[in-house]
Amino acid sequence: MTKTQKPPFIWTNVLVLGITFLMAITVVPLYGIRTGFDAFEWTVFGVLLMCTGYAITMGYHRLWSHRAFKAHWSIRVVCAFFGAGALQNSILNWSADHRNHHKSVDNPDVDPYAATRGFWYSHIGWILRDYRSGRHSFIQIKDLERDPVCQFQHRHYLALAITVNLVIPLALGWWHGKLWGTFLLAGIFRIVVNHHLTFFINSLAHIWGRRPYSTKNSSRDNPLLAIFTYGEGYHNYHHSFQYDYRNGIKWYHFDPSKWMIRALSWVGLVNGLRTAPRLAIHKAKLETQRERALNRLEANPALEPLRQRMDEAYQNALTALEAWNSSRQEWLEQKHVALTEKRESLNLELARMKTRYRQMKSDWALQLKQWQQVHRKLMHSMPSA
Ligand SMILES: [Zn+2]
Ligand SMILES: [Zn+2]
Repeated sequence: MTKTQKPPFIWTNVLVLGITFLMAITVVPLYGIRTGFDAFEWTVFGVLLMCTGYAITMGYHRLWSHRAFKAHWSIRVVCAFFGAGALQNSILNWSADHRNHHKSVDNPDVDPYAATRGFWYSHIGWILRDYRSGRHSFIQIKDLERDPVCQFQHRHYLALAITVNLVIPLALGWWHGKLWGTFLLAGIFRIVVNHHLTFFINSLAHIWGRRPYSTKNSSRDNPLLAIFTYGEGYHNYHHSFQYDYRNGIKWYHFDPSKWMIRALSWVGLVNGLRTAPRLAIHKAKLETQRERALNRLEANPALEPLRQRMDEAYQNALTALEAWNSSRQEWLEQKHVALTEKRESLNLELARMKTRYRQMKSDWALQLKQWQQVHRKLMHSMPSA
């Protein structure tokens, strides 16, 4: 194969993706106009969309690909079942690709859906042609091959996919008396919606948005995208701290997959939720801001007088952050000792530590504010000629 020659099509993928997409934009709306969809059909569509969507984001992505938490077998079985229904390959194939994506992000030769190869390639092109013929590697997923649920799903993928996409919508449609309407909406249309919402994470989430945690790769944070992707829009954070079960870390970040995982942990169905240390998160953010400020200084020598103020503010913020973090750590450790040993004598010491931690916290907030003021000034002031 010469360099300009494209690899051959994978016809199964072309036909499945092509036919379902064509039906979703022609037959489905035509049926909707002529016959109409009722509340039952929309409910089956909504429920199956949620089930297959969460099975991918919570199961395939955060549980299996990143081991961000541990799940009871019943949750693994449900995610494996509906995940097969999302028609995005088995857990083993999906996770192998995804771990390669994180390991070699943006590398056009190794990242399976490298955004550096353009929107079309990262969105769907990589699935349509055999770009990696003979280069599929399962080395990254030795741990998953030991999971009986993953093994079973891999072996019976086709049967499970047919059950979710054909048997369930057709059976419910038959029972409801609207066989084709239910199948078109909850089968075909739902597959297409779910496909493209997931594909956006590989394409748009690497093109559109901000990069607060790292500029070393193309991943982006995009709150708007999070709304349509079950919370996966905070992709720059995710690429920086991939083992964190959250993608949106603030309470107000729209990340329903995170809320679902947390809710399941309250009833004991998942545990071992992993989170990135606060210190590392704040440091990554500070470092990225500093990097941008330095680039701007480099490009605008007229802003040079601000350099010293910037360095000082950065150092002060960093010192305050570390002091806050260690005082918090000390306080929490001591609190734990006091709680387990119930030692009265520790209470005074504990109160002193708590006060110190609170002081350090407000000092960090103050230093961060000052750093942000200097940073904003540097980034937005017009360099004088
Ligand atoms: Zn990515
Ligand atoms: Zn990931």
